[in-house]
Amino acid sequence: MTGGPPRPAADGADLRRELAELQARHRELLEAAGANEEKLQRSLDRELRLMRAETLPDLLREATTGLARSYALRSVALVIEDPSHELRHLLIGLGEPVGELGHVQFTDSLVGITPLAAHLSRPWLGPYRRADHDLLFRHGPPLGSVALVPLIAGGRPLALLCLGAVEPERFSADLASDFLQRLGTVLAICLENAANRARVLRSGLADYLTGWQSRRYLNARLREELARAGRHGTTVTCVMIDIDHFKAINDTYGHLVGDEALKEITARIESQMRASDTAARFGGDEFALLLPDSSVASAAQFAERVRKALEPPVELGAGRTERVTVSIGVAGAAPGRAERDLKGIGERLLGAADEALYRAKAHGRNRVEVVADT
Ligand code: GH3
Ligand code: MG
Repeated sequence: MTGGPPRPAADGADLRRELAELQARHRELLEAAGANEEKLQRSLDRELRLMRAETLPDLLREATTGLARSYALRSVALVIEDPSHELRHLLIGLGEPVGELGHVQFTDSLVGITPLAAHLSRPWLGPYRRADHDLLFRHGPPLGSVALVPLIAGGRPLALLCLGAVEPERFSADLASDFLQRLGTVLAICLENAANRARVLRSGLADYLTGWQSRRYLNARLREELARAGRHGTTVTCVMIDIDHFKAINDTYGHLVGDEALKEITARIESQMRASDTAARFGGDEFALLLPDSSVASAAQFAERVRKALEPPVELGAGRTERVTVSIGVAGAAPGRAERDLKGIGERLLGAADEALYRAKAHGRNRVEVVADT
């Protein structure tokens, strides 16, 4: 028995109407459940695609153009804080020119691009405002609304995923942002994983003895630095170094002692370098350094400092010391803004530095020779 006042007797028409309403409501609920399931499935698919990206460049493409396609958004950009330029160097090491990832932007400071980033712990949704969002969507056409999703690592945003829609109502402040929060979490983990994989790969490419980069890395880096020098009107210099009579050390003390000498010599060269310089082992006892944004004259001064740093005798263990000298060739290249053949310029730069090195050897070793212009 149920309580309450007796229900007035409904006639057949009322019941039929009530039934029709209930059926319509039931259909709506079913459709909504179906749509939700579809949404969930789509967002799981997106997450899977991010997780499956095998390399850092693949992941960055999937997180920008991939998400734009999948969400049918006008613009998706990723702004990544990379103060030590490490991620950029990892990408170059993978042979991926950073300039070709058009929707990915690296910055020394996220807050510098958008002050909002300092306090963002959840996605921010709202109208597009040119003054606030223009720097985020560098290539974006006019947008109606945006969602800024922080990728949190170590308790603070390390990157910002920026979703931009043409429709003003697409991302509004009252929209549930849980699924975006989740997307940010997944992407942050994927980014960290892909960067770690690239680090492992790079450590495999680096020279095991000196820890310096490979020739392949230097070539890729050279093109990147030349492109930048072209944009900024600066010079890239190459400093080529070869140890003098190194074979004599091996012949006198053996190969293992020679290895120790190589480590000590490269450590002393490194002590003169800046963080933005690149050092590569070119051949057995030959090394190439790239100094971005440095005139030929200051590269020549750097080369003299390297020569001086090698003046104190090198310790060879068991109380033995030996004086080791190097010959150095210096050359520079200042590509024009519209220069297309960066590969050719790079090859000529390395060739010129090598030629200068050869001259230093021919003129008696333990000296620096410079090519003024390439
Ligand atoms: P030069 O002044 O003309 O350069 O004379 P050099 O004796 O240095 O001649 P060269 O550059 O032709 O020879 C380089 C020597 O470096 C030959 C090789 O025995 C030695 N070498 C190359 N790689 C290694 C290495 O990884 N470890 C050791 N111990 N020696 C190496
Ligand atoms: Mg040598």
